[in-house]
Amino acid sequence: MNIGLKTRLILAFLSIIIVPVLVTIGLLYVYLSNIDERFQGQEGKINQLFQDISDQVRENEELIDHPKQLYYEFQPLLRKYDINLAIQSPDHEVLFDSRDFHPDESSGFFKQMDSLQVDVELSSGLPVHVEIMANSLQAEPFNTFYQVLKNIMISLAIGFLSLILLIIGWTWYISRTILSPLKQIYTATEEMKEGNLSYPIHYNKKDEIGHFVHGFNLMRKHLKQSIEKQKQYEKSRKELIASISHDLRTPLSSIKGYVEGLMDGIARTEEMQKKYLRVIKDKTDQLDHLIEDLFEFSKLELNQLPMERVYVNSQEFFSDVILGIEIDVQQKGVQIKVEDPVPSVCIYIDPQRIQQVLLNLIYNSVRYGASTINIRMLENRTKSHLQVQIADNGNGISKEDLPYIFNRFYRGEKSRSREHGGSGLGLAIVKSIIQAHDGEIRAESDEGQGSCFTFTLPLCIPSSNDPEPEG
Ligand code: ADP
Repeated sequence: MNIGLKTRLILAFLSIIIVPVLVTIGLLYVYLSNIDERFQGQEGKINQLFQDISDQVRENEELIDHPKQLYYEFQPLLRKYDINLAIQSPDHEVLFDSRDFHPDESSGFFKQMDSLQVDVELSSGLPVHVEIMANSLQAEPFNTFYQVLKNIMISLAIGFLSLILLIIGWTWYISRTILSPLKQIYTATEEMKEGNLSYPIHYNKKDEIGHFVHGFNLMRKHLKQSIEKQKQYEKSRKELIASISHDLRTPLSSIKGYVEGLMDGIARTEEMQKKYLRVIKDKTDQLDHLIEDLFEFSKLELNQLPMERVYVNSQEFFSDVILGIEIDVQQKGVQIKVEDPVPSVCIYIDPQRIQQVLLNLIYNSVRYGASTINIRMLENRTKSHLQVQIADNGNGISKEDLPYIFNRFYRGEKSRSREHGGSGLGLAIVKSIIQAHDGEIRAESDEGQGSCFTFTLPLCIPSSNDPEPEG
């Protein structure tokens, strides 16, 4: 059971006040009710004692003038009750005192407290005064008053003891439930200060402290994640700068080399000069392409490339895009086949960006050895997405490369020589655009057999506020 902190403190204070009082009162009640019973029992015992003493005195009245003998006669009785006796005449002359023969060893104070008087009429008609003195505090019936006092003291002591035990118990409990998690939090903050963000605080109760600890652990986790993210970002930023400088420097240095060659007159024939100039043009194209990709990618990364999505008809859109590049692709010796039927559905896309996706994928196929590119489109079963598949019969992608091809600046093992002049950003850009359209993209490939890229695009959700789809 989870009791709140406030309830626990209230319970602690109440129990510290109430329990000792109840214990004391309870014990007093038990003792006092016992005393009542004892008094009832003692009354009979006192009467019996008086009766025994009166009988003894009367039986031995002729021995009153012989106290020693009288003492011997009285001795069993005195022993039985553990008492002393003194007999006085009516004019208070001491006729007999057992203490003369058996000195009282107990302290005077207690003895005085436990004395009783009884008048006995002798057979001669002479009334004598018998004082009964308790020799021992333990002897009944004289110990009652002390027992009451003692029991009150014991009750108070037990009450006080329960108070101390409760204070110790509650202090232990509260320190365990409040102070120890606080101590853990303190240690965790110290650890965090030292840079250790993997120091969890274990506290499973769902009370105020539990909520606080939960919040603290969450904060620590978020902080850890954001620091790791920051580190990752920092690392990839460094990698990015290194890649960019490398990719810019490579074509630049070859341009520089060829320009110097031309200037130094190394290319003597016109044919050589043309070749040099062609290389320079290729390299500048490569640079242009790289800078274009970089620009696009950085805008996508910074979310500065707003998606201007509109409703378009899929059949019209894809036909237009393919028509626009078909001739160029054919000139490169590659055939594009669009599988029939092309679904005619409304898609919600940024046409320019999706055109870029198609171009990146198709020109990748062209670059990586395809002679045929098959394009297939179909609606998915739930009719929420249009699936577009671009399959080629090119070089394919190795198993080692496949998981990384969508990473920025990643180039497959075979394309690293840069003979294709790729930036390694094409697929990263494609993925960002598809994700910005709430779609998904995946690649499958058999090395040497070809590759197949599949992505999805959302269909229009009909709503009364939607603008009419184009076409
Ligand atoms: P690049 O500028 O190098 O083409 P991309 O991001 O477009 O960069 O592609 C990443 C890598 O994926 C390429 O270097 C290449 O190894 C591989 N790749 C992409 N498309 C294909 C494809 N159609 N056929 C074979 N390999 C491909």
